[in-house]
Amino acid sequence: MTGFRTRFAPSPTGPLHLGHAFSALCADQMARAAGGSFLLRIEDIDTARARPEWEVQIYEDLGWLGLEWPVPVLRQSAGLARYGAALDRLWAQGLLYVCHCNRKDIAAAATAPQEGGAPLIGPDGIVYPGTCRQPAKGPRPDGAALRLNMVRALKVLNVVQRPLGFYEKLHSPGYHRIDPTHLVENVGDVVLARREIGTSYHLSAVVDDAGQGITDVVRGADLFDATPIHRVLQALLGLPTPVYHHHRLIRDQQGKRLAKRDDARALARYRAEGATAADIRALLGM
Ligand code: GLU
Repeated sequence: MTGFRTRFAPSPTGPLHLGHAFSALCADQMARAAGGSFLLRIEDIDTARARPEWEVQIYEDLGWLGLEWPVPVLRQSAGLARYGAALDRLWAQGLLYVCHCNRKDIAAAATAPQEGGAPLIGPDGIVYPGTCRQPAKGPRPDGAALRLNMVRALKVLNVVQRPLGFYEKLHSPGYHRIDPTHLVENVGDVVLARREIGTSYHLSAVVDDAGQGITDVVRGADLFDATPIHRVLQALLGLPTPVYHHHRLIRDQQGKRLAKRDDARALARYRAEGATAADIRALLGM
């Protein structure tokens, strides 16, 4: 065994499809090649969309693919205290603020005539126009949507003097230095705690990658643009930075990226039709 430790982190909000199989198989293959370990993590923070039956199907599909992982599996829905502690730390540094906007408010503010042109789209949708941005006062409220004040975060980290970056092994391999101007203008004040959910994908993934000792993150190239956000959170929370491997995306015949709703590519469907794990590997060119 080496120190290499990776994970596959699906959300149980629909059936796993060929793209998920590719991701999980890549991660497992890298772990085996390195003599390291492959973990499974269930990213079920969105309790309105996550369903126990999808979680059961994840275990079945991955088992059918021939994957094995240590148990118990970490389920993020059981980890709210961990994420709360991270939020408290950021709140105490004055890096978060409460946001009352809904999607419509954000779209309206971002397209207001004085802003000019079409709204900028970042990794989480429209770049937040800053409507609710203000210095935080008092204790951190529960259940509210909290955004990261990106300008302040980069200032606290002194990124101009001490640049941040991460190593990427697959998707344009090399060291990627984070561009603070890009982060402020094209990513902006991302949500770290969603209303009623108490955390977000970015925060919980960063906290858990560190908590689980993940040395290497293997995931789809669609998340490459989220990685600078994760790098900033790691720096703010004093957490180590894994090496990243953003693999190519599996597309359908039309060249469209597969989505959860594309049931036609669901692994369960291939399985029901008598395909084997070897057939899936062959389909994926593995
Ligand atoms: N839960 C995320 C997804 O389903 C995984 C993100 C990650 O691997 O960091 O896309």
